Amino acid sequence: MIYLDNAATTQPDPAVLESMQKAQQDVWGNPSSMHTAGKQAKQFLEHARALLAERIAARPAEIVFTSGGSESNALAIIGAARAAPSAKKHIVTTKAEHPSVLEACAQLEKEGFAVTYLSVDENGFVSAKDVGKAVTDETILVSIIHGNNEIGTINDIAALANACKMRKENILFHSDCVQSFCKVPITVANAAVMPVDLLTFSAHKLHGPKGAGALYVRQGTRLAKQVFGGHQEHDRRAGTENVASIIGFAKAVSLNADADADKMKKLRDSFLMLLNKAVPNVRINGPAGDSRLCNNVSLVFPGLSGEIMLQELDRRGICCSAGSACTAQSLEPSHVLRAIGLSDEDARATLRFSLSRYSTEEEIWETVSALKEIVEKLD
Ligand SMILES: *Cc1c(COP(=O)(O)O)cnc(C)c1O
Repeated sequence: MIYLDNAATTQPDPAVLESMQKAQQDVWGNPSSMHTAGKQAKQFLEHARALLAERIAARPAEIVFTSGGSESNALAIIGAARAAPSAKKHIVTTKAEHPSVLEACAQLEKEGFAVTYLSVDENGFVSAKDVGKAVTDETILVSIIHGNNEIGTINDIAALANACKMRKENILFHSDCVQSFCKVPITVANAAVMPVDLLTFSAHKLHGPKGAGALYVRQGTRLAKQVFGGHQEHDRRAGTENVASIIGFAKAVSLNADADADKMKKLRDSFLMLLNKAVPNVRINGPAGDSRLCNNVSLVFPGLSGEIMLQELDRRGICCSAGSACTAQSLEPSHVLRAIGLSDEDARATLRFSLSRYSTEEEIWETVSALKEIVEKLD
């Protein structure tokens, strides 16, 4: 099998699985318990927290473990909205967010909050000027995705957060960093350079386990908890921590190296070059070069059906995605592809390939030759 759908999920690293199995056998104590078994689990939990914090130059106490990216996004957005003074009722986000952000915002709209959905340009970028214009005295939070899961656009989070803070210092800035984490360096140490308050992470997009994630919460940020009953996670998220998965998450983070991103970038570019030769009128969605996620290749095959091509590729043992995994069940064209101005027809003619550090040149050659064959067959 050639697995090129790593934006949907990744294969767990064997070392991650090993660390989790060991944790499940040896450190099954409740980290909130006061006895030895609990203290031992607590020690592992805090070690994982420190590892994650170190990766973004945060304080360990600023890391809140959750069940994944979707929960982190909900805690950031709904938690910030519900903790705000009642006079403040406004949220700013964009039209190119992950559904877990868009639906959290839609929920707040039902509860009486106003949400501004910023447009993105033809490559998926959000403009800092638009952010500055959108925020008002009533704005609680601005939430903008870092690396886009469908088209690979990497927004300049520092510039966008600065545009928001310049207008009003106490507006919170959140970013969904699920796709960018460990692929693009992120450091929160200097709040003047990177004035973000909340960042979302998920383990299973970087060779860790499903069901584990984290939210970075800058010290002093007001956030209403969304899960009740205990004082875990510095009282920001109740519930006994998923210690084994958190250990696997931290292990996965420690195994992601800068060299992996360089390798994926080279593979991505050779994929595009080979494909351009093999299939002449294919078009790429999203930006070129360094402002694109190192592992994302989103393509339009004009006049063809992405759904049918996906099935044809699957029959040849190649896994990819039409639009995004989240829209795979519906016939609605992706909201992100619409946001960058694609026609419904081109959106339906889109395939997304996403590489991992396990991807190889041979897999790329095979995929390009399968695509050539499929295009010739369907044309
Ligand atoms: C996968 C993904 C999420 C959701 O993360 P889960 O851990 O699967 O809940 C959120 N945002 C982006 C950009 C993603 O790619």
